[in-house]
Amino acid sequence: TQLDRIRNFSIVAHIDHGKSTLADRLIQLTGTVAERDMKAQMLDSMDIERERGITIKANTVRIEYPAKDGHTYVLNLIDTPGHVDFAYEVSRSMRAVEGSLLVVDASQGVEAQTLANVYQAIDANHDIVPVLNKIDLPAAEPDRVKAQIEDVIGIDASEAIPISAKSGLGIPDVLEAIVHRLPAPKGDRDAPLKAMLVDSWYDPYLGVVVMIRVMDGVIRKNDRIKMMQTGAVYGIDRLAVLKPAMVDIAELGPGEIGVFTASIKQVRDTRVGDTITTEKKGTDKPLPGFKPAQPVVFCGLFPVDANDFEDLRDAIEKLALNDASFSFEMETSAALGFGFRCGFLGLLHLEVIRDRLEREYDMDLITTAPSVVFKLHMKDGEVRDLHNPADMPDLTYVDHIQEPRIKATIMVPDEYLGDILKLCQDRRGIQLDLSYAGSRAMVVYDLPLAEVVFDFYDRLKSVTKGYASFDYQISEYREDSLVKMSILVNDEPVDALAMMVHRDRAEARGRVMCEKLKELIPRHMFKIPVQAAIGGRVIARETISAMRKDVTAKCYGGDATRKRKLLDKQKAGKKKMRQFGKVEIPQEAFISALKMD
Ligand code: GDP
Ligand code: MG
Repeated sequence: TQLDRIRNFSIVAHIDHGKSTLADRLIQLTGTVAERDMKAQMLDSMDIERERGITIKANTVRIEYPAKDGHTYVLNLIDTPGHVDFAYEVSRSMRAVEGSLLVVDASQGVEAQTLANVYQAIDANHDIVPVLNKIDLPAAEPDRVKAQIEDVIGIDASEAIPISAKSGLGIPDVLEAIVHRLPAPKGDRDAPLKAMLVDSWYDPYLGVVVMIRVMDGVIRKNDRIKMMQTGAVYGIDRLAVLKPAMVDIAELGPGEIGVFTASIKQVRDTRVGDTITTEKKGTDKPLPGFKPAQPVVFCGLFPVDANDFEDLRDAIEKLALNDASFSFEMETSAALGFGFRCGFLGLLHLEVIRDRLEREYDMDLITTAPSVVFKLHMKDGEVRDLHNPADMPDLTYVDHIQEPRIKATIMVPDEYLGDILKLCQDRRGIQLDLSYAGSRAMVVYDLPLAEVVFDFYDRLKSVTKGYASFDYQISEYREDSLVKMSILVNDEPVDALAMMVHRDRAEARGRVMCEKLKELIPRHMFKIPVQAAIGGRVIARETISAMRKDVTAKCYGGDATRKRKLLDKQKAGKKKMRQFGKVEIPQEAFISALKMD
């Protein structure tokens, strides 16, 4: 296809503002998919995505559009992942296209993710066409939202297109705007092949499918190509475009977007952002900006029933085949037995993986509290990543500890601002900015990620009755006075409850933990001390008192073997209890204890 007949674009929007619905309309109006094959939200393929209305994998569709100027254009829409955890994937998708439609719900206005996503588009030098969606709603205020786009984002919104993606109103105007207001791609057909790996996924029939954007040169079926990051060489089996089903094509030239298969075994062998060239006479200059996937949030996943460990391993290995950004290694916990320490790009990513394990693989899981990666600067100069608080070495070897900080953007109706400021302050936040867009306040905070991974989203939602929107980016690793807090139940440390905390917060956090555990652990025959400690120093303590004799006599009386049998029976009946030393700790204690109020 001639370069000036191609337009590549993405749609940026806050969740629920209508990105998928608009994509469906564009596909429908151009007859890309036969009417009988249309199903709602063509581009959201996974169940979890559909249910939660989020897009995790970047999907793409090639649309042929006969414009009013008499020419037919090829429009490539990349549907970018809609969540912060996938910010790097979003940034790569953005580099694969030249323009964006900025969709804003005209009844809601600009939200935190609108901002984060549009900044990515601006960073990628996109031309941006603002689109005001849902103007069919009585609450729509297109003029106010136009002004807001100009004030808050700082782009011209005078020619924003009013539409209803639901009814189809205004969609022809969007198609014309894509052709006339977005630029054509550039590229040199005669240069060596240079293509960006935008995304890849596992297809049960085809194996790994790799999506690319050709920058220079031409890629053809049967070419032998090289991935510049991994150095791996493959022969292309199949070259295709997505409409959105795969349709074979002989070649892809500059500016074009398509997919290939090449007998690649696992998604792990492909790196988003990598440069693909030909094996012979290829380029030696990779595209800039490649970053390896870096998990930032870790947690332990353990089977509720220890017998399910092998099944869990199988399930995790299968998921990992299709997700290069998710890491795992075996972990043994004295409290929870065999399981896995898993690394994720962020909290949503964690939730998605855990959900898939539970639903698709039918696993019953205990998830330990999520923790971030701390950087331990050792006295001998070594820098170590700490993925699990239980692995914290003796403090005498540690010079200082750094933790990841984030830049969080929160948008919230005026009346909740005070609660938000308090919440951020409580979580060791530093306020960076506070501004207003109409009756909504926008606050920017520098926060420790460790304080956000617990229950920040939940708290944010509950204090604002769901009206706040939140977005974040990792900013840097910074030193702070962080310590490992151990929890001892009946004088024995429970590894799954160990956590890294700020020294100034340790006592308060320790007290809350002990109080919660006192509530959560049932009484036994004996008194159980529950303590929080830093090193050898106890900073908080509670005692679970013993059951009264007359109550326990029936169950626990008699000789030791009978008692053992009774206990065993009890244990089988209550799988969700974990025996720990002489104490049984219910499963929910591991999660509930870590939530703060
Ligand atoms: P996404 O999260 O940005 O992909 O948003 P969706 O396309 O999934 O839309 C979110 C919700 O808004 C869905 O319930 C849609 O049916 C609804 N929606 C989308 N566009 C419109 C519109 O133009 N008018 C109205 N009334 N509802 C819409
Ligand atoms: Mg969607």
